[in-house]
Amino acid sequence: MKRKEFIKAGILGTTAIGLTSLVSSCNQDVKSSETISSPNINFNNSYNWRMTTVWGKNFPVLGESANKLSQLVERMSGGRMKIKIYGSGELVPGYETFDAVSVGVTEMGCGASYYWQGKSPAAVFFTAVPFGMNAQQLTSWLVGGNQEGYELWKEVYEPFNLVPFLGGNTGVQMGGWFNKEIKNIDDLVGLKMRIPGLAGKVLEKAGGAAINVPAGEIFTNLERGVIDATEWVGPYHDYKLGLHKAAKYYYYPGWHETGSQMEFIANLDAWKKLPSDLQEIVRTATLSVHSWMIAEFDQKNAEYLEIIKKETDVQLKEYPIDVLNALRIHSKNAINEIITKDNQSNKVYKSYLNHQAKLNSWSELTEKAYYNTIID
Ligand code: CA
Repeated sequence: MKRKEFIKAGILGTTAIGLTSLVSSCNQDVKSSETISSPNINFNNSYNWRMTTVWGKNFPVLGESANKLSQLVERMSGGRMKIKIYGSGELVPGYETFDAVSVGVTEMGCGASYYWQGKSPAAVFFTAVPFGMNAQQLTSWLVGGNQEGYELWKEVYEPFNLVPFLGGNTGVQMGGWFNKEIKNIDDLVGLKMRIPGLAGKVLEKAGGAAINVPAGEIFTNLERGVIDATEWVGPYHDYKLGLHKAAKYYYYPGWHETGSQMEFIANLDAWKKLPSDLQEIVRTATLSVHSWMIAEFDQKNAEYLEIIKKETDVQLKEYPIDVLNALRIHSKNAINEIITKDNQSNKVYKSYLNHQAKLNSWSELTEKAYYNTIID
């Protein structure tokens, strides 16, 4: 995919269509009539669902995950269930995905929970927490043991008539693109950086300015100096966006997105009407897509890191430990501001933090100790 097409396929499109006017027309396409856990499943009934996504249609890896889910569900159900995918702006703009699925414009959606902080402050903890868990640790919180993280996620979404599913993970992202070196925390003072979510608040605590820039405008804003720095995803997406042509220094690690969790969401009423075997097929398919995305990000990022090293003059730089330690303190303060104002966030973060502490103690002797043995 060329850079122009890539930008075109970017996230959170802007074609506005009223949600309520779409509900009735979309419901006509839904042929489901069975009730949950029916002992006599009627295999002649077909279910034609729709999924709207935060991403542009076929957006590399993230948008592709929706297509994969659709293909898997159709094959696994022998064609009894089909899910038609709509990219951002085709039915509703990407940023209305949560509302669209909540009211039943579509039965499913695809995106990430941190886009819905305005709906529930606790939503952010199911995508990315600065200095938070990595993909492996987060999956363990959501899927392992008694699925404590997943139960909390369901609890947060239930008032919105939604049920969440794991939809992949980006892995640890890169720290971002700069045109000056970051040698100490004061180098962030006055810096205008595109960095979303909770991390934006952290940057502001460090004296910088978090600027909200849509995907399609990141490159030109950085090139023209409208922003001084930006983060995006990792070598694959960053290279395709051409960021190596607009900045000299490529910093790591992505302290702000240590394993960003993606999601599928389903309308709870539609979900309850689905027969139990199809529910299991959807659930199993989401976990399959989840595993695929983690693998795909690692595969593509490793490949494009080599391309960046070989083809460009970009300098790869590690954030100095003093800068990371200062950002860690600012992160704790930013999170404290959320959890002291919102009980549900407090409950979710407590569980998150307990799990992280437990897993870090284990990872210290295993993943970390092993990574320390890696020699170039
Ligand atoms: Ca990012």
